[in-house]
Amino acid sequence: HLGNETLKAELGRAAWKLFHTTMARFPDQPSEEESAALKSYIYLFARLYPCGECASHFQKILKKYPPQTSSRSAAAAWACHVHNEVNKSKGKPVLDCANIEGFYDCGCGDDEMEKKS
Ligand code: FAD
Repeated sequence: HLGNETLKAELGRAAWKLFHTTMARFPDQPSEEESAALKSYIYLFARLYPCGECASHFQKILKKYPPQTSSRSAAAAWACHVHNEVNKSKGKPVLDCANIEGFYDCGCGDDEMEKKS
């Protein structure tokens, strides 16, 4: 059946929001296990993204720009960069990644995910 650009764009906005907010909440000083978990999450996100054409396009971008998961700021800057790669391929304006910190707020206050269990 025919694609629907409106729904595809809505999915994209929702997915990017979750993606960037995940980076914004990632620990500043993650353990090796946390860094590995984020890396797996990113590869699985790319593999299972519901729009197949988008998924294969994004997997190519990941090959060129492997996930950076050594810290919150590295992950947020990396995610901004790969989103800009998608923006460029669609002829959209790119975002200045220097301003990414504080842009994505989960609304969860000080309920830090970082607290060790
Ligand atoms: P979006 O690109 O959805 O961005 C939402 C908001 O994020 C923007 O309004 C802005 O506030 C902010 N933003 C913009 N750039 C950045 C940045 N670099 N870093 C952080 N925040 C930013 N669509 C296709 O047609 N073809 C594809 O191949 C394709 N691949 C995709 C792959 C992935 C992994 C995802 C998540 C989406 C993909 N999409 C694809 C959807 C596409 O990227 C857009 O989400 C959709 O076109 C809606 O665009 P938009 O202009 O509303 O803003």
